[in-house]
Amino acid sequence: MRMSRYFLPVLKENPSEAQIVSHRYMLRAGMIKQSSSGIYSWLPLGFKILKNIENIVHEEQVRAGHIPMLMPTLQSADLWRESGRYDDYGEEMLRITDRHGRDMLYGPTNEELITDIFRSHVSSYKDLPLTLYHIQWKFRDEIRPRFGVMRGREFYMKDGYNFDLTKEDALHAYNRHLVSYLRTYERMGLQAIPMRADGGPIGGDYTHEFLVLAETGESEVFYDSEITDLRFGDRQIDYDSVEQCQAVLEEFTSRYARTDETHDEAIFAEVPEARRRTARGIEVGQIFYFGTKYSDAMGATVQGPDGKPTPVHMGSHGIGVSRLLGAIIEASHDDKGIIWPEGVTPFHCGIVNLKSGDAEADAACEAIYGALAALGLEALYDDTSERAGGKFATMDLIGLPWRITVGPRGLKNGVVELTSRRTGESEELPPEQAVERIA
Ligand code: ATP
Ligand code: MG
Ligand code: MG
Ligand code: MG
Repeated sequence: MRMSRYFLPVLKENPSEAQIVSHRYMLRAGMIKQSSSGIYSWLPLGFKILKNIENIVHEEQVRAGHIPMLMPTLQSADLWRESGRYDDYGEEMLRITDRHGRDMLYGPTNEELITDIFRSHVSSYKDLPLTLYHIQWKFRDEIRPRFGVMRGREFYMKDGYNFDLTKEDALHAYNRHLVSYLRTYERMGLQAIPMRADGGPIGGDYTHEFLVLAETGESEVFYDSEITDLRFGDRQIDYDSVEQCQAVLEEFTSRYARTDETHDEAIFAEVPEARRRTARGIEVGQIFYFGTKYSDAMGATVQGPDGKPTPVHMGSHGIGVSRLLGAIIEASHDDKGIIWPEGVTPFHCGIVNLKSGDAEADAACEAIYGALAALGLEALYDDTSERAGGKFATMDLIGLPWRITVGPRGLKNGVVELTSRRTGESEELPPEQAVERIA
């Protein structure tokens, strides 16, 4: 992409409404624009990153054997009356009446809708196990939308639902989600720690929230510092293997890690004092096994091996796709701007032309741009006539992992400058080598 043809409305001033760094940088880097409280337009740069994050989520869900689909944003209130949640959900639900006077709502989550789809089409245990998911906009009329996309009213979420014959099978689905989530977050350069969460009225141990540690997080968390040494890494896993998934769950959940909702001082005291940590975290996902709550209420049964109708065991599993942009920035930035992890960066490299209009500099930039493209790497080429300082500031703000700076003086010696955003280190080398280094 050439900067002169792009739409990147960078702000010079710090927007006064932004209280935390991720919100500030997202506005300054021209990634989002608020349209009304807690509702945002995604400008091209923000949209690109949102799609990169979405793609990682899709790839990891499909890898785990989960099936993508798409459900609508608007739902009929009738299904929610069946489950009893139309009244229970309260003020967070945006209720809408259509021209025929029918009660509708903008979906805050999809348990009812998916259970209705399931019961309409699946009637035998032979069609299980089944895990369906979608990535779709949600609406929750949060009492205090804030921190930009972190707590929006309209937000983008992956939500998946498993249907299984037995509790045992459903717990395997739970474990599979835990593993796939660990992989998902690590690919985004994030450490998200599974923490025991509150099972709500259903109770039980079967819910974990994934938290990214950050001072600006809204949850208070308590954990054994050993847990931050764990990495999923590039290990191969067979998602069909009950033992393998269970082993990962045990490895990642055996140390103390809880949010304030489930924190227990007495158990925490058993962790050696030097390893006890209290911090803040951002919830970027949650997994849940809830048994037959919805299948009982909505009559989602299958014919079991014994021929009898059996309610299916279900769980739901969410990832805050749009919130993740904020969480990644909170975890990866400096005072000049964002530092995108390679996995989600909107462009692989920035090219700064120090003297646009200079035939040699222009030609060198074009050659680098073309060479990167030939390798499948997208660059953002600043071909404008802005002064060098402004170009550097913009590149630092938008946080691409690499910058190649091209100017007449360097070209006389046959070199360009390659700079790493993360380390700030620069190196002079011939253009072809700079390109190789990035690839
Ligand atoms: P929170 O505790 O932050 O209100 P939640 O527990 O109500 O979140 P879930 O129902 O677990 O949210 O939804 C799954 C994921 O969707 C959350 O883990 C979070 O990452 C994301 N999410 C929830 N509410 C919002 C919101 N208002 N804005 C952006 N993302 C959200
Ligand atoms: Mg909430
Ligand atoms: Mg929560
Ligand atoms: Mg939650």
